[in-house]
Parts: sequence; structure tokens; C-alpha cells
Amino acid sequence: MTDLDRNVDLVLRSTRVVTPEGTRPATVAVAAGTIAAVLPYERPYEREYVSGLPPGARLEDVGDDVVLPGLVDTHVHVNDPGRAEWEGFWTATRAAASGGITTLIDMPLNSLPPTTTTAHLRTKREVAARKAHIDVGFWGGALPGNVRDLKSLHDAGVFGFKAFLSPSGVEEFPELDAAQLDRSLAEIAGFGGLLIVHAEDPHELAAAPHRTGAKYADFLASRPRDAENAAIEGLITAARRHHARVHVLHLSSADALPLIAAARRDGVRLTVETCPHFLTLTAEEVPDGATEFKCCPPIREAANKDALWRGLADGTIDCVVSDHSPSTTDLKTSDFATAWGGISSLQLGLPAIWTEARRRGHSLDDVARWMSTAPAALAGLHSKGAIEAGRDADFAVLAPDDSFTVDPAALQHRNRVTAYAGRTLYGVVRSTWLRGRRIVADGAIAEPSGRLLERTN
Ligand SMILES: [Zn+2]
Repeated sequence: MTDLDRNVDLVLRSTRVVTPEGTRPATVAVAAGTIAAVLPYERPYEREYVSGLPPGARLEDVGDDVVLPGLVDTHVHVNDPGRAEWEGFWTATRAAASGGITTLIDMPLNSLPPTTTTAHLRTKREVAARKAHIDVGFWGGALPGNVRDLKSLHDAGVFGFKAFLSPSGVEEFPELDAAQLDRSLAEIAGFGGLLIVHAEDPHELAAAPHRTGAKYADFLASRPRDAENAAIEGLITAARRHHARVHVLHLSSADALPLIAAARRDGVRLTVETCPHFLTLTAEEVPDGATEFKCCPPIREAANKDALWRGLADGTIDCVVSDHSPSTTDLKTSDFATAWGGISSLQLGLPAIWTEARRRGHSLDDVARWMSTAPAALAGLHSKGAIEAGRDADFAVLAPDDSFTVDPAALQHRNRVTAYAGRTLYGVVRSTWLRGRRIVADGAIAEPSGRLLERTN
């Protein structure tokens, strides 16, 4: 037995382990929460690990269930403290763990205070520390008035900075105009940081027709594709000028894909995410008054959804993340103009995406790349995002051919409003593992053992 073997405390075996080289039968050896080795399926198991398991090592054979790298969700609004009745760290991280997510990065707005100074970051960290069932990191916020706070937030470990180009929906988090975007981006590029942007152009939004009421078509008309397209065009220009790293949040308008692809070919440092609701739901199927489907930018037509899938398939879109943004049910009125905009899907993103992906001929390797590897790379989380030696032993064990019907009562979200209610989805999360510890087993959730993460790159 080698020294490596002696330290191994967990041996996880499956006929289908999703590795960077593809899905294959493998035995994953874990030592002190880190993947020590990804070994062949038969040989080490038969000859060494079973006949002579390292002292204290535990064998977990999950059969034909698929072992995925734990998902990394870089777009979650936890809202704690301040609006914890919308969602808190306890409920959000339990929901995430139940959905196979082992790392989330919290958005800087909708909590009070927002994460826009180092003092506010400390407050957030203190609240999260006691409640985190999975690993939690934080984005900072770039506001019109906090350019001088950005470097200290960066040094304090935020993973980057979120900015809006149009009103955010909460008054304590105002948007940047073009000049303010330029100043913030210059500052962030100066220390090698990352700006992540809600890209809808305020002038295009103001020019769009605004009707109140329960009709989804009226809401959709009020958030046109041109608002996204124009904002992304401006953002590309600014990123190019400062040679800055910029990330487009929750892309909905597929019209912007050629623009994004061209900018990337030109060397602009641009990455893009989209969300499960844009890839699985369509405007045509939203019932009148069903504001559980409201988000900004909005869910668009079926043809747009197909085009987003092509963007994922050809690599123009990097990540699929939840944009989990709940509120209390009373704010989800039947008027699309005034209801809170945000879709809850922390617990359902993996089965929602897998259901549609398998229908379109994609593999779980693709899903792992979109929902774990790419978001981990976006945030510079080098210990996350893949099943390979040296990374954290974070896993989601999935029964990909099992299905279930979404019952809001089974969700761990604080408010069980969901656009997915009643849908039949493929992919049941059997267990979730965080640094070698099983934190979810057939629906039962262990006590919190998540850590607070800081940017290390
Ligand atoms: Zn968001």
C-alpha cells in the first residue's frame, strides 16, 4: 500500500463517473475531503481496496447511478439578512444541497445591507457562517457611489462585482449609467477583477410599451430583446476599451449570440451564462396571471429557447446557473407589471436542464460542464468543478433515468412558489457529498458543514 492509500478514508465507486475525460466506470479515492485519485473501476477495488481497504476507509458503491462533480451555482439571491423572509442561508443551502449543488455564490443585492462595502460583507459572512449547508462565496456590488470600495472588497475575497445597467428592482442597489460603468470597469480592470452585468438597456426599456395586467404578452413586450442586445453591445465596447473581464448574467435574447461570439473571436474577455427557465420554459405556455414565471429579462418564445440551446452547444454560452430569486408569495400578485420578478429553481435546476438536454441529445458530461466546471472557472474556484485528483470531493449522485413530478411541498426553498409545479422531470438526486461527507441522502439533509469561500486567484 502506498502513502496515498493509507490516507484514503472514502472510496466511492460507480459504473458512471463524470470526469474531465468523459463518463466512465471508476473508483474515486478521497482523503480528508480531497480527491486523492480517480482509479480504474475493477483493479484497485478488487485487489486492494476491498481485499485490503485502507484502515478506516469506507466503501460506497453507488452502482449505476451517475457521479457528477458537485454543481456550482454562481447566481443565487439569498437575501439574508434583511429580506430573509424571501430566502435565507439555512433554507437556500438546504434546497441547493437537495438539488446536487455544493457551492453557491450569493448575489450582492436584495439582502440588507447589500454587499457593497467590506463592513457589509462581514455582516453577510457572519449570518451565512452558521447556516451554510454547502460552501458559500459572495459577489460584491458596483454602485454609482462605491468605486473606492471595490479594491478593498476584492482584497476581502469577493469573487467579482455585479452591476445593473437598468433599475434593479430595489432602491438600495441603483444602476450604473454609461459614465459610471466606465469608471467602475476601469477600476476593476486595474486590479484584475471581474464585472458581472445585468444587461438590459434603460433607454430601450423606457421606449417599450408598458401595459399593466395579467397578460404575459404585455409583460414580454415591455422587456424587448433589443434592450438586451443594445446593453450587451455597449458592454462589449467598454470591455474592449479597458481590456476588462466581463460576464453577461442571465442571457435571454438569443439575438445577442452572434455579437457575443464575434467579440470573443476578437479577444474580448467575455463570458456568458443563461438559466434553466430560459432553456426549459417558453412564453407561449405562461398562463395569464402566472407571475411565478416572471423574471427580468423575461422567458421568451420557443424559437428563442431553441437558439439558446444552439448557443450552449457551440460554446458561445458558458454556464447554466439558477438566478434563484424568490420573494414572499404576497409579492407574486397576478399583475405582471408590479409582481416581484424572480424565479425559484435552486433545487430543480439539474433535473430541469437534464430533462431538456437528454431530449436534445446532450450528455451528462455537457450538463456537468455547464453547471459545474464552467461556473467554477468563472469564479476562479480551482478546487471545485471537476472529479479529478486534488479537487474537493464534492459530488452529486444522480439517477438519470428516474423521474418525478414537481410538488412544491417537497421543496426546501423558504417560499415554495415555483414555475415548475406539476412538471415531470428526469434525474433524481440520490445523494450529495461535500468534501467527502454525505450531506444529503435520499432527501435527508445533514447539519450544516459548509465553508465560506474567498477568491484566491
Ligand atoms: Zn439575479
